[in-house]
Amino acid sequence: MSDHKPLARQKAIVTGANSGIGESVAIALGQAGADVVVNYVENEDAANAVVDRIHQAGCKAVAHRADVSAQDQVEDMFERAVREFGTIDILIANAGLQRDCAFAEMPLGKWNKVLGVNLTGQFLCAQAATREFLRRGVVPSVSCAAGKIICMSSVHQEIPWAGHANYATSKGGIKLLMESMAQELAPKRIRVNGIAPGAIRTPINTSAWNTPEALKSLLTLIPYGRIGLPEDIARAAVWLASDESDYVVGTTLFVDGGMTLFPGFSTNG
Ligand code: NAD
Repeated sequence: MSDHKPLARQKAIVTGANSGIGESVAIALGQAGADVVVNYVENEDAANAVVDRIHQAGCKAVAHRADVSAQDQVEDMFERAVREFGTIDILIANAGLQRDCAFAEMPLGKWNKVLGVNLTGQFLCAQAATREFLRRGVVPSVSCAAGKIICMSSVHQEIPWAGHANYATSKGGIKLLMESMAQELAPKRIRVNGIAPGAIRTPINTSAWNTPEALKSLLTLIPYGRIGLPEDIARAAVWLASDESDYVVGTTLFVDGGMTLFPGFSTNG
């Protein structure tokens, strides 16, 4: 574990923090010195395991169940965070899911579920975080900024995705939600940025990497020649949440091994 604590004295909420990318980000924030609310919606044991890892790093952590698409549950989560930690400095709006379906057959329920969690969930959490950042303002001994919001997007904010119209729409929406918030809130010293992961080895996309054939096919899309790991995203999140990225505002950081470089053109252009 590093002695470098760029997030010392800061308080964070990570949504969807008991699995995959969110889990890795929450642990990395704790290792960087932040106290962390570990949000989950199911599988409390996994959330408690993340809390234990953050305690081992010497920081405070609590597991909190909340569905990010439900406004009352989001508000309760932020109230608890402020009650227990005093304030919130960092939001990692990470919770997300896929409900894949051919477009012609997609039921409204699958459309609404994905938009509700992936996009409205980010709106609700970012709004609650913003209200707390505005209430408290800048505390120079903690951070140059009044608060930091990091929206977990995807390469699919740029790359259309057949069979996943609901998911790609949610990520395209996150791009302009993030940029609009960044433009509106920068004068208040609130920094809003996004991370666009490529293919990261997590439960959301198991079928894309869990057989040799699937992995071989996936790797044709990744110039850097390996699948991403949750820790690749966690390191980017710690940097974007820290004052080391203080002048970075409204940017999407692609952490994708080059997936958005049109790899098909490397041999055929
Ligand atoms: P994951 O399935 O391991 O984690 C998703 C998390 O979100 C889980 O903890 C899940 O319980 C939580 N979640 C789902 N619905 C929720 C709700 N209503 N309220 C609160 N939490 C909820 O998948 P992951 O790969 O770690 O995904 C994390 C984020 O990264 C998602 O936004 C996903 O779209 C994005 N992403 C992942 C990849 C990838 O390749 N894994 C690529 C691009 C973007």
